[in-house]
Amino acid sequence: MANNFLTGREYLRRKKLREKKKLISVALGFPDLIFAAGGIPVFPIRLESFTVNRYLTALNSATSVLGWSLTAKFLDFARQFDILKLVDKILEEVISSINQKYNQMYDLGVQNGVPSDLCYGIYALYGMHKERKQIDANLNFAMRCGEWNKISESLRSIVPNQIWVDIPALNAEDEKERLSLMVSNVNKAIDELELLTGNVISDNSLNKQFRIGNQVKRFYNTILYEISASNFYPCNPATFAEILALLTITFQDYNSNAQRFLENMSHLVKEMRERIKKGIGMDVTNMPKLLFSPMYSGWEPEIHEIIYKLGGRVLYADWEILGLLEEIPVSKNSDPIESYSRYLLDASTKGIGCDNENLTSSYLKAAKNMEVDGLIFNQVYGCPSMSNIYENLKRKVESELKLPSIVIKFKKIGENIEEIENRLKPFMEELRSID
Ligand code: SF4
Repeated sequence: MANNFLTGREYLRRKKLREKKKLISVALGFPDLIFAAGGIPVFPIRLESFTVNRYLTALNSATSVLGWSLTAKFLDFARQFDILKLVDKILEEVISSINQKYNQMYDLGVQNGVPSDLCYGIYALYGMHKERKQIDANLNFAMRCGEWNKISESLRSIVPNQIWVDIPALNAEDEKERLSLMVSNVNKAIDELELLTGNVISDNSLNKQFRIGNQVKRFYNTILYEISASNFYPCNPATFAEILALLTITFQDYNSNAQRFLENMSHLVKEMRERIKKGIGMDVTNMPKLLFSPMYSGWEPEIHEIIYKLGGRVLYADWEILGLLEEIPVSKNSDPIESYSRYLLDASTKGIGCDNENLTSSYLKAAKNMEVDGLIFNQVYGCPSMSNIYENLKRKVESELKLPSIVIKFKKIGENIEEIENRLKPFMEELRSID
């Protein structure tokens, strides 16, 4: 999965030049319509070139020659001798390589006239699109905060072909009307995608994609609810958090290949379960479990290392909290466009519509179901939407769930690490003393 992410540039070049596929940029976690249209969804940072760790390249070649099972066996064998903390090291480098690139994209956004005082994610998204002439269109789901929509609008000067799917605001219409509006907006996007790709989006192609997506979400939830709940992790908690971070990033476009992504998810879950069964990994019984969110629009990746050193473990579960891991019902008699529309409306209500009440409930529900010991809220500089809920959320987490929580501030990766550490130390000490 990490290799597919980092070598995306080559893969996408091949798809565009040799196979004449359309590259369509997308963010958050909405690649389904693009796959169903036979296009290639791309979270545009993947068009950048990354430094790929040589062990990762070797591992990837080994996997394609030996298959995943034999490679995994070899890794276990190598680990016995502690030749290298191979997987841990690779993942650490992968995440830091991605984050260096994120910072470069952020700087590009800042230097290119994006209005000041916006959040990190918006600057980075703008930077990612800048000068990426390979992108044929941008598929945007226009329901988020005003800042997001404003910047998406200004992407028009970089990617003229904009396909917008408007999501009707909550309470704007009654439920039936809202659904019918949503269906017509999805149909409009489908028409535009068909025109762009020259392919027809049939009920079959939609259902096929939803089935793949549903399985991906099931594996994702298994990691969040089954593996995370275990008292024994298949790796150390910092590496585990890195895997969750990688999942958050790659879920946005399924690394441009839905079937391959599904297979990778399946291998990942199988490998994790086997390691736990064999007792390979780490006992985390006495390490408090902390839900950290939101991180998709920018976060300090040192956090999970800091928490690990302070005796805790971090979970990243943004897509679950925001409602994107809900499955889309597929059956012989269902109308896939209507099912997809309901999915979008539900996700908007649950999280990405930024409705304070609903968002707060989603956080509470996730914290409860994931049985965490505390919450860390990431207050992203320049965010007028999600940041508004923190006070209310903090109060409710403390009164309803009887859990401690803390708010930390984030502006850019690598800034304020010391300050963050100083804030987290007493919080963790207190948390561990409760235990
Ligand atoms: S909700 Fe906040 S963090 Fe998310 S895109 Fe909007 S401004 Fe950025």
